[in-house]
Amino acid sequence: MAPSLRIAVLTETAEGERRVALDPAAVAQLVRAGRSVAVESGAGTAATFVDDAYVAAGATVGSRAAVLRDCDVVAVVRSPDEELAAALTEGQTLIGLLDPLNHPELIKTLTQRGVTTVAFELLPRTLSRAQSMDALSSQSSAAGYRAAIVAAHAFGRYLPMMITASGTATPAKVIVIGAGVAGLQAIATTRRLGAVVTGYDIRDASRQEVESLGAKFLTSSVAKGGGAGGYARVLTDAEKATQQRELDTALAGFDVIVTTAKVPGHAPPELVSAATLATLRPGSVCVDLGSSVLGGNVAGSVEGRTTVTGNGVIVVGGGELAADLPVSASQMYGRNVVAVLDSLAPQGVIVVDASDAVHQGIVVGHDGEVTNAAMRSVLRLDPLPAALPAGLAASSASAADRPMEKIA
Ligand code: NAD
Repeated sequence: MAPSLRIAVLTETAEGERRVALDPAAVAQLVRAGRSVAVESGAGTAATFVDDAYVAAGATVGSRAAVLRDCDVVAVVRSPDEELAAALTEGQTLIGLLDPLNHPELIKTLTQRGVTTVAFELLPRTLSRAQSMDALSSQSSAAGYRAAIVAAHAFGRYLPMMITASGTATPAKVIVIGAGVAGLQAIATTRRLGAVVTGYDIRDASRQEVESLGAKFLTSSVAKGGGAGGYARVLTDAEKATQQRELDTALAGFDVIVTTAKVPGHAPPELVSAATLATLRPGSVCVDLGSSVLGGNVAGSVEGRTTVTGNGVIVVGGGELAADLPVSASQMYGRNVVAVLDSLAPQGVIVVDASDAVHQGIVVGHDGEVTNAAMRSVLRLDPLPAALPAGLAASSASAADRPMEKIA
């Protein structure tokens, strides 16, 4: 009989985190496929998934120590705290939004200890077969939707135009800066709420995507800001100065600003300056999805907090807003985890295929070696010799010839 992969689900410990790595439906799917799942008691409670629902789905429920002791895979949402990182042992695999490019030492330590690290951030997202694994997109989508709701809630006026017997309200003017997955969802949602919406980005492709949602596009003179993999690049100092001047002028008329601008592996660019905030009307709202410990897109935004500037502008630090939609976000995330496990452990044992582009990206370190190329570069390690290209391996090499490694 095929070995059963044992998967642990733990309570998230980051402040304000209400998501859980697997919801009961994802557990049931894994159990049907012959995996066993152990859930820390209470792990899903903040997302409304009670222990009994996990038991009904076929999981066992126990203490954190018991769940951790007997597992092959630990599925988490956020990067592990020090205690969890210290508890992981050789041969175990950690899957989650590990933020590896900003936590290189964590990856290095875990890899040296023989823990395999699998990080959603390094998935090659444009591969069609990777889309079911794309937790960055699923969580960004939840965050973008939530940002629109948070903005509407914080704003003291109607978002739509309202014509009533008591008078007419003009629609709110919203701008969404950064038209990636989260930004497009924020545009779509604020449009549905009736606001007049503008999108802004520095990647070429973004104009069409914004306009296809019926929003206006604010043109930037930095229109070639696209970098590798469809992401934005870090702008030069001259481009940053130009962009800042343009935005300082353009943003003054908006009631709501949603920012989502990120550049992988770098601090988010500050795009709404203190000078811009000072020009906004009292009661205007900025929701900063770029907000993080590294800084944010809005001057002075504090991750997880709502602050009010001296001139009455409400600034929401919302870098982890997907956690405020814990049920939907966990359901989508659970499907992403299941899809990754289907790819890494189709026979019930984790096997990393060094010629598989998905594995090359998402597996950061295993078998004592940091394997992801971007991570090696951050850690200043020499590149590894190139593996056989995936297409070549599939077409001209037998399965036995392909470089595969059993790691758990
Ligand atoms: P992200 O979270 O890395 O960044 C959010 C947005 O901020 C991006 O659109 C980026 O261009 C923008 N940005 C960065 N710096 C900026 C600046 N200085 N000024 C203005 N905007 C700035 O992006 P994401 O949502 O992860 O998406 C990244 C890319 O990946 C996009 O091109 C998206 O379409 C693509 N993508 C493709 C697939 C797929 O093919 N299946 C899936 C997901 C994402």
